[in-house]
Amino acid sequence: MVYDVAIVGAGVVGALIARELSKYEIKTVLLEKLNDVAQGTTKANSAIVHAGYDAVPGTFKAALNVEGTRLMSSLCRDLSVPYKNIGSLVVGFSQEDIKTIESLFHRGKKNHVPQLEIIGRERLLELEPNINGQAVGALYAPSAGIVCPYELCIAAAENAVINGVRLMRNFEVRSINSDNNGDFVISSDNDKVTAKYIINAAGVYSDVIAAMIGDNSFSITPRKGEYLLLDKSMSGIVSRTVFQCPNKMGKGVLITPTVDNNVLIGPSAEDIEERDDLSTTESGLRSVRESVQKSVPNFIIRDIITSFTGIRAHGSSDDFIIGKSSANEKFINVAGIESPGLSAAPAIAVYVEKIILSELPGLKVKENYNPIREKPVRFRELSTAQRKALIAKNKAYGRIVCRCETVTQGEILDAIRSPVGATDVDGVKRRTRSGMGRCQGGFCGSKVVEILARELGTTLDGVTKFGGESKFVIGKTK
Ligand SMILES: Cc1cc2nc3c(=O)[nH]c(=O)nc-3n(C[C@H](O)[C@H](O)[C@H](O)COP(=O)(O)OP(=O)(O)OC[C@H]3O[C@@H](n4cnc5c(N)ncnc54)[C@H](O)[C@@H]3O)c2cc1C
Repeated sequence: MVYDVAIVGAGVVGALIARELSKYEIKTVLLEKLNDVAQGTTKANSAIVHAGYDAVPGTFKAALNVEGTRLMSSLCRDLSVPYKNIGSLVVGFSQEDIKTIESLFHRGKKNHVPQLEIIGRERLLELEPNINGQAVGALYAPSAGIVCPYELCIAAAENAVINGVRLMRNFEVRSINSDNNGDFVISSDNDKVTAKYIINAAGVYSDVIAAMIGDNSFSITPRKGEYLLLDKSMSGIVSRTVFQCPNKMGKGVLITPTVDNNVLIGPSAEDIEERDDLSTTESGLRSVRESVQKSVPNFIIRDIITSFTGIRAHGSSDDFIIGKSSANEKFINVAGIESPGLSAAPAIAVYVEKIILSELPGLKVKENYNPIREKPVRFRELSTAQRKALIAKNKAYGRIVCRCETVTQGEILDAIRSPVGATDVDGVKRRTRSGMGRCQGGFCGSKVVEILARELGTTLDGVTKFGGESKFVIGKTK
């Protein structure tokens, strides 16, 4: 079969593009090298839906950020993804910072960011009483929000698959050639796919994919960002996302609530060589801890429950690189999608949809296209009466597997059996939150391994944490 469109990379950008294209009577395939979607930059970032005052007016970053943020709440409603419009603050501690804040304000106005205002110290401390009393003022952006980035990606991929897109996991694109019809032949080590168009949404590897067709017009520098996640007991320390003034490496260290009522602090910023280096470092985490104390001095280190790293795809151009490649018009780059790429992703998807529509005019919308993804059961959010009714229908919802996050066996089975089902422990974790609480999987991890083994028809040592050789059980002692 010849696909009309092959999308390389199932991060939030590729998955949302796949969902937009799934509306139409075309054949689309989404190729992902790993064994799950949302495993690249999409799984580890600040999860902020930025208001859009940072980017230089007239750039893709500026226009697509503001439009993506506008689209985000209705998109998250359609896909049943957690999103909260909590607003953000850039806090200044000196007159120099206030100058930066004023220039962000003017930039934001040019970018058409709604409701922006500069507030003084008194109002700031009214809004956020735990902020350092040395603060002198802030930029307040009520349109900013927070979202669950991996759930957005999983939900978009599920919705795309339900509407007819084929998802091929464990398909690492290794080479791209042309056949006699001028179509692309895309090869992994053990499979091939033919497609008329390619959309390159491969994140930190997008320059490598572009080079496969001879497009060397840009390069990607991986830029590491380390984070600390605090327990829910710290929830309420801030009610909005609190930034410090930006610097040349990015938006600086922030402290923010997450959609699940944890508190996130970070990221550091360091250019690195290795694109998959997700290690955390003592120095990176210390710099995060020390920097954030400038904004909110009294957070409690004891309440840190985990740390992680995300890798930014910093492009050689300062802007997102979106459009037809100069090496082949049927190859569309969606590259250099660093921050605010998550916020912009809904608008990037619509922009790319328009490119495809201009290439394939007259495309028909499928009669049975369904933009809605049903909300999965979230036992912890239900009332006692709702819980009883659910358990009466299916006893698996009456067995708690993850005690920290109140996740039931029924929800874990749903996650494995869903249209883009989990195939490993981290996949279950991202879909249900089992293992994301205070004990970080210490109690529920082995139960999840057992359930996965049963459902996937494999042995305990066939179950992995995140694919490959990341096994929990390596053999018997007796
Ligand atoms: C530290 C940090 C903080 C950030 N904070 C924010 C924020 O608060 N708000 C915001 O708006 N943005 C933020 N961002 C940016 C945002 O996370 C990214 O823009 C977004 O996740 C990019 O998504 P993507 O789909 O382009 O990339 P990815 O999620 O990396 O997806 C690319 C996919 O391509 C796959 N792939 C790679 N090579 C191949 C191959 N050869 N064959 C097949 N598949 C392949 C990968 O496995 C991956 O799944 C942040 C980023 C970082 C790192």
